[in-house]
Amino acid sequence: MNSVVMKFGGTSVADADAIRRLIAIVSAQAARSGAPPVVVVSAMSKVTDQLLRMTADASRGERATISSGVDEIRRRHLAAIEALVPPPDRDAVSAEVEQQIEELRAMLTALAILREASPRSCDGIAAAGELLSSRVVAGALQAAGIRTAWVDARQAIVTDDHYTAAAPLTVETGEALKREVAPHIATGLVPVIGGYVGATRDGVATTLGRGGSDYSAAIIGAGLGVAEIQIWTDVDGMLTADPRVVRDPRVVAHLSFGEASELAYFGAKVLHPSTILPAVSTDIPVRILNSRRPEAAGTLITARPPLNDRPIVALACKRNITVV
Ligand code: ADP
Ligand code: ASP
Ligand code: MG
Repeated sequence: MNSVVMKFGGTSVADADAIRRLIAIVSAQAARSGAPPVVVVSAMSKVTDQLLRMTADASRGERATISSGVDEIRRRHLAAIEALVPPPDRDAVSAEVEQQIEELRAMLTALAILREASPRSCDGIAAAGELLSSRVVAGALQAAGIRTAWVDARQAIVTDDHYTAAAPLTVETGEALKREVAPHIATGLVPVIGGYVGATRDGVATTLGRGGSDYSAAIIGAGLGVAEIQIWTDVDGMLTADPRVVRDPRVVAHLSFGEASELAYFGAKVLHPSTILPAVSTDIPVRILNSRRPEAAGTLITARPPLNDRPIVALACKRNITVV
């Protein structure tokens, strides 16, 4: 398939300005390739942390913080809609967000009454971040003249019931993607789908683990057989070291699947460690790009290692680990 998957992380959908940059990047890609890309989005930055904090509060019966937290999440999403989606479509997109917000409020209230937060309940609440952001991004792209179709990730990614770290079921997910996503591409629509989220065969919401939107992008790309999986983030690519630890690390232009996977596994947070698995099995290149500097070349990750001989590619580290 000529189409590509474009995944945008939390900072790349954080507010109206970030979503405007996303729209420009998606338009340029659609114009370049001719085929509609599939857009996968994370929750707006910090929203997942906030949702999980509220779930913990609810499990202790603390109801006061729930109300203010849900109000803040609601305000952020409605502000982005206000800035990006003019009437008459604004009302419909706002109504979808309001409905999701009310569901979230009801779930948290129920947990606060019951004082419980099972992994299954945590996932029901954590999934709201991507369900909300994908609604906003779909509405914003549509308002910018790009014909889109919002896809419910719970219909498109089928997982086991290992809540909070669910694994995709490859055959079922392949079938679901062909049913829920491929027809939109065939009719010229850009599918917009929340990352991180899936559902069991019975339709109960699951999540793929923290940072799992990268993994969703790779699962979707592999299931549809796209030409490339793009990970749009807030740095210029895979760097020679964690920029929060080392000053001025360099971008690594080209990595093999094995090298990238190892760096991700050992702490290079820019890529979820499982992302490479679906790409390897289908031999689809992965590119890491900066949504604030789309002109930068980024990092290309392919099956074949780059030709030049490099003694050290990059360093990664994990904190607070004791090896016994
Ligand atoms: P997103 O929200 O786009 O998924 P993440 O916060 O998950 O972004 O990952 C990007 C961050 O990963 C960067 O801002 C950077 O601080 C961190 N990071 C850690 N190690 C590396 C590395 N080797 N190369 C690039 N970024 C890294
Ligand atoms: N929103 C989820 C998280 O913060 C998934 C992701 O952003 O990749 O972990
Ligand atoms: Mg990430």
